[in-house]
Amino acid sequence: MYGKGHQGLAMLLFAPILFGLLYIKMYVVAAIGFFVCIGLATYPDIDWSLPFVKHRGITHTLFGAVVLAIVFGVGVYLLMPKLPSILVEMISISRGWLALIVGAFVVIAIVFHLIGDWLTKSGIQPFSPMKKTRYAAGVTTSANPFVNIVLYFIGLFAIGTVIYLSIF
Ligand SMILES: [Zn+2]
Repeated sequence: MYGKGHQGLAMLLFAPILFGLLYIKMYVVAAIGFFVCIGLATYPDIDWSLPFVKHRGITHTLFGAVVLAIVFGVGVYLLMPKLPSILVEMISISRGWLALIVGAFVVIAIVFHLIGDWLTKSGIQPFSPMKKTRYAAGVTTSANPFVNIVLYFIGLFAIGTVIYLSIF
């Protein structure tokens, strides 16, 4: 799956989570989740441009997701005291919780990406290096332009609908 398809799928899958968070008025968590899940939607495909990393290797595994979540969580924890106090007040979540929330959304974002690549014919090995089994639903090829663009618009529509429903 290509970038637009991954972004669309991330928006589509995040839409019910967003709905739930807005419903219980957790606006800050909703915003963090949105930026992490959509922002990292295409992150695993960074392996195209990394030397010595094969495509759909480590960045396309749950192990890679947890490592990235720890990096982000620790990063947030260390950066938080350096943020302007007005921003810290706005966030109004403790350092520890913020690190955990960001870490959890990082894992969710990667799982969303893995779902997208699982749908394709070439599939993924999500449990590598522990288990090398390849999973491929084979619904579409990664390069199918129709699937990628339709997913993108379905995702936009889903997020738009949730925001509309939450405001009105
Ligand atoms: Zn991928």
